[in-house]
Amino acid sequence: MEGAGTGKPREPLWPEVGTIRVLARGALKRCPRCRARGIFCSWFRLREGCPRCDLRFQKEEGGYLGAITINYAVTIGAWLVLMAVALVATAPHVPVGPLLMASTFVVVGVPIAFYPTSKTIWAAVEYLVLRSDPDYRAPVARDPRAKELE
Ligand SMILES: [Zn+2]
Repeated sequence: MEGAGTGKPREPLWPEVGTIRVLARGALKRCPRCRARGIFCSWFRLREGCPRCDLRFQKEEGGYLGAITINYAVTIGAWLVLMAVALVATAPHVPVGPLLMASTFVVVGVPIAFYPTSKTIWAAVEYLVLRSDPDYRAPVARDPRAKELE
């Protein structure tokens, strides 16, 4: 091959891992490529890029519609579990007032609590799509000292 012969091939700084591990990193609110923590400025604000591997999280304006969809699905799932448990446990005398309060707590609290996780799961999905692009090249080590950062 042309270009070969001047030393060993350069290894990617962050070796590619399987789809499940990338999604698990997202679910743990870590960078999907390098597993770095601390990728949030605040509870509601994801950094533009990873401070460690420089992966850009928000590719374009409105790119988080997927995160909103994930958050919505988790919220509805939690509410359905609440309703099923409450109805099975209390039927036929369903306590409407307390169930309404519990429902309000779930549909307001779950989206807030799950918001950062939904963003990093969506960032993981975007990363999986990005790296499947034929033109994608993972960052490679340019300096041997860079490996110490791993
Ligand atoms: Zn990273």
